[in-house]
Amino acid sequence: MDAKINLNSLSYPELENFVTNELHLSKYRAGQIWNWIWAKNCTDFDAMSDMSKDARQLLHEKAYLFRPVIEKVSKSKDGTAKFLLRLEDGELIETVLIPSVAKDGKGRVTQCLSTQVGCAMACTFCSTGKLGFKRNMTMGEILGQVQAARAFIEDTNPAHPLIRNLVFMGMGEPLLNFDNLMKSLETLHHNKGLAFSARRITVSTCGIQKGLKELGESNLAYLAVSLHAPTQEKRAMLMPKAAKWQLQDLLSALESYTLGTRECMTLEYLVLGGVNDTPEDAKELIKICSRLKAKLNLIPYNDTPGSPYKAPTPENLLRFEKALWAKNVTAIIRKSKGQDIEAACGQLRAEYELGKQTEDCQSK
Ligand code: SAH
Repeated sequence: MDAKINLNSLSYPELENFVTNELHLSKYRAGQIWNWIWAKNCTDFDAMSDMSKDARQLLHEKAYLFRPVIEKVSKSKDGTAKFLLRLEDGELIETVLIPSVAKDGKGRVTQCLSTQVGCAMACTFCSTGKLGFKRNMTMGEILGQVQAARAFIEDTNPAHPLIRNLVFMGMGEPLLNFDNLMKSLETLHHNKGLAFSARRITVSTCGIQKGLKELGESNLAYLAVSLHAPTQEKRAMLMPKAAKWQLQDLLSALESYTLGTRECMTLEYLVLGGVNDTPEDAKELIKICSRLKAKLNLIPYNDTPGSPYKAPTPENLLRFEKALWAKNVTAIIRKSKGQDIEAACGQLRAEYELGKQTEDCQSK
């Protein structure tokens, strides 16, 4: 017998194909199953009450539904919650929920999604970079983070705040897992499923030549670029692999990146105390910002155990921000959320592995 298929990993056309050609059911059934999986967040074929008993039996025989399993939840004082999720093959990834209160007073949540187990980019300040690259995540695993978080919120939070925005800023480099990224974005948009619009999705990249243009032309998400340094030399020091694509070439590509009329991209600038927060850095950064339709997020570094970098002093950070404002650059200091739970990219898994190593050492 053929191996069972995880329906969570199929795009709409793939599901339709599976339902009509493998299960010999109608296209209409594919629409119903899709709706159960993505709109109703269902993991149990028997709960699909509008499917006939025979159809459910067929589903059991030929398919299954697997989503990542929550291994650990760390909650921050500021409400940020970080989840360590276990994938089907035992690999661990992270996703973070960041709560906020909207203008209407209702609770909202932004979710930060991982796209790869580990990361190949080896940025020197990043915990995920230190893990190295293990493998790409499938669409089912990428969006399984949303499903797992939704189920968790429904189980634990009586107010059931909506997951309003998604940011692809967790572990991994989204553009290096391009096919699964695009498949995920298309599934997120599907109006019989999760129905996220592009305005509510941001893909963050360190700037990968292949795929960048296509992402812009797809209009499926907003773009954020991890700049982190204003010169090629400094960028090469902080982000050795990303900087193989020369800064000037990245900037030219960003100048011609497809943006909607009222849309602008985000530049992320991790402020590392004494490293990239000098007046000279501000001057170079102003030149870059004047070339692009972009807003600038200044993210004070989240201190990470064992890291050579440190957060900027509050005075230096403000001085840096002021220098940018003086030249009409819209720079906003983004307070790092979840500092007490080390919610920056890759920190939970790194901590978990460190803990395991310590346990392993102790048990020897
Ligand atoms: N690879 C993609 C997305 C993952 S990293 C990218 O580079 O954009 C998401 C963001 O978290 C990046 O801007 C990254 O530089 C930042 N980041 C990594 N480690 C951090 C830390 N210790 N403190 C604050 N931000 C961090």
